[in-house]
Amino acid sequence: MPDPRRATPRTDHVLADERLQAAATRLGPVLVKHAVTAALERCRAGELGPAAVADAAVAALPASATTLRRVVNATGVVVHTNLGRAPLSGAAVEAIRTAAGATDVELDLATGQRGRRGRGALEALAAAVPDAGAVHVVNNGAAALALVTRVLARGDDGRDTVVIARGELVEIGDGFRIPELMESVGARLREVGTTNRVHLADYASAVDDSTAFVLKVHPSNFAVTGFTSSVPAHELAGLEHSGRRVPLVVDIGSGLLEQHPRLPDEPDAGRALREGADLVTASGDKLLGGPQAGLLLGEAGLVERLRRDPFARALRVDKLTLAALEATLVGPVPPVRAALGRSVDDLRTRARAIVAAWPADLVAALGAEVVDSAGAVGGGGAPGVELASAAVSLPEHLAAPLRDGEPPVLGRTVRGRLLLDLLAVDPAEDDAIADAVRRAAGAGRA
Ligand SMILES: *Cc1c(COP(=O)(O)O)cnc(C)c1O
Repeated sequence: MPDPRRATPRTDHVLADERLQAAATRLGPVLVKHAVTAALERCRAGELGPAAVADAAVAALPASATTLRRVVNATGVVVHTNLGRAPLSGAAVEAIRTAAGATDVELDLATGQRGRRGRGALEALAAAVPDAGAVHVVNNGAAALALVTRVLARGDDGRDTVVIARGELVEIGDGFRIPELMESVGARLREVGTTNRVHLADYASAVDDSTAFVLKVHPSNFAVTGFTSSVPAHELAGLEHSGRRVPLVVDIGSGLLEQHPRLPDEPDAGRALREGADLVTASGDKLLGGPQAGLLLGEAGLVERLRRDPFARALRVDKLTLAALEATLVGPVPPVRAALGRSVDDLRTRARAIVAAWPADLVAALGAEVVDSAGAVGGGGAPGVELASAAVSLPEHLAAPLRDGEPPVLGRTVRGRLLLDLLAVDPAEDDAIADAVRRAAGAGRA
């Protein structure tokens, strides 16, 4: 019997393969070498013949130079934190591509002088929220809040306390908490009210000479129901102490710039400003549907102070983000907004078409059927709001093979069935879902 180790080709011979050469240009030599090394291992182990090594290496090449993979979000959760929150619009992706090389992000091409960084994105944001005197953009919502707190509650003017309702001490996710974030940049918190109720009088008796601002935080990922009360922004905006108006900062979280008809209780930046907020903070990658970013909108003098603070530089937003944010604001409807606009009738029609693409015996074997479903905005806002949707119902055991497929398809398990909910799925991905289920079911039966 021939010794397979003797027959194993040399690495440089395999690497000379045209396809692998081309891949080295596209993906870089390291990833190609990994694929070749793995194929050679298999040859040495006798799993592959020497002639099959190059083919095996080509087959094992990653699709791109990132380990991140595109997935199909059939969970019914529109803004899914574990799936990267808002998917970007085609226009935003194109904008990122444009900005990725050398770009005039901080140069005025007309004069050749330094220009305001991200001017286009900032102008688009200002135009989208006419009630804001000025706007600024940082890395994310938490950074926006940290910057506001750091600058307004630094304490050099004797004011280092932030007044906040106990029912609004929100944990954002992954163990991070807004009150701890604010304390980490030097503020002291003055908590008022109880878990379920707070009144204007609670705030009024808490503000004193040390108060830097009152913070109103939208509980964007939980809802307290029953015997509850909170104080609207327009009442908090009127708070005074010793003849001085106390600034009001509103963290709306989700990034709605104006009210959305399907989410009537979700706060929006325009309204918070009209109600008297001095500053509004929000995320860019929740209901706005854009890239990860922190939006700061409000009174021009305050925004300028934030922008000029040394700490602002540590939170400075990337050119790719500025490009994607601008395209989100001025471009076509981004996927998150498209999802919110889908009618349950259309979703049912799409679900039926997916099932109709399968042979009758597969449909019967899977007990596949179209069911009504309740989607959600997710961690991005509107807690407790159910969005009418439709799904394809499948056996639960398909969850793992679907997750493991290409592309991975993520559904939601409800009462022992796997639901592939179409609310957050782009119609262009429906065929990929139909194919993925066919493959996953086939693999299960083999
Ligand atoms: C999401 C959220 C944040 C944090 O924003 P990131 O962009 O995730 O940093 C802060 N406050 C509220 C109310 C939120 O909903």
